[in-house]
Formats: sequence, C-alpha cells, structure tokens
Amino acid sequence: MENFLFGLQRKSLNKVREVYRDIQQGQCFYCRKSLQDEVAVDHFIPWARYPNDLGHNFVLAHTSCNGRKKDYLPSLEHLERWKTQNIELHEDEISERLAAYFLCDAARSLSVADWAYKVNAGKLWVKGGSFSAVD
Ligand SMILES: [Zn+2]
Repeated sequence: MENFLFGLQRKSLNKVREVYRDIQQGQCFYCRKSLQDEVAVDHFIPWARYPNDLGHNFVLAHTSCNGRKKDYLPSLEHLERWKTQNIELHEDEISERLAAYFLCDAARSLSVADWAYKVNAGKLWVKGGSFSAVD
C-alpha cells in the first residue's frame, strides 16, 4: 500500500511541473535561466532532510542545478526568494492547483524550513560548485 501511494505521488509530479512552470515563467528557480526540457522537480528543503511532498516545498530547476544542489540546503538568498515566490506571492495558487495531489499547508512548509535551517550544521549551496558559510 505504501508503495502504491508513493507511485501515485510520483506521477503527480507532472502536475507540479505544470504549476511551477507558470509561477516561475519558465525559468530555473536557482540560476534564473530558461528551462528547456531538462527539468527537475526540486524539493527546496531536500528530500533527504524532510521526506514528505509538501505542495509549497517544490521549485523547478535544471536537472544540472538540481544535481549540483544535491542534499544541501540552499543559500539564505535562495531561502528568501523561495518564501517570496511560494508563500507571499503564490501561496493560494499553489494550494488551489496542487491540493488534490499533495498536502498544501504554507505554515507547515515555513516551519519545516525554519527547523531545517536551525538544525543545519553544513554549508549552504549557492550555485554550481559554490557554497556560502553558515553563520
Ligand atoms: Zn538552473
């Protein structure tokens, strides 16, 4: 049963691509360059740190940017842009369009982000192979 539900969730990632392509106007969340066909649905707070699909925790990124980010938390600048994009500007749209597929609870996504950055002891990913230090 778990695997069955998990499989359904994976399929609904196509819906995430559609919604976030609109929100991000076809640009990669991290490098802001145009997304072509190599698009990855990225868990902003990495799946390895919080293995749940929350509607507001997604962004779209190039497969290459997603691959460089790995399981690192994004820089504080990315964090601010994620809050602006997914919570301040598009909280309702994300909830409306994705609630049938994923848990959409912006307050919970914010709590998870706050928690993840609080307990993080590692460096923060900026882009490519570059990182910023944690204060
Ligand atoms: Zn990119």
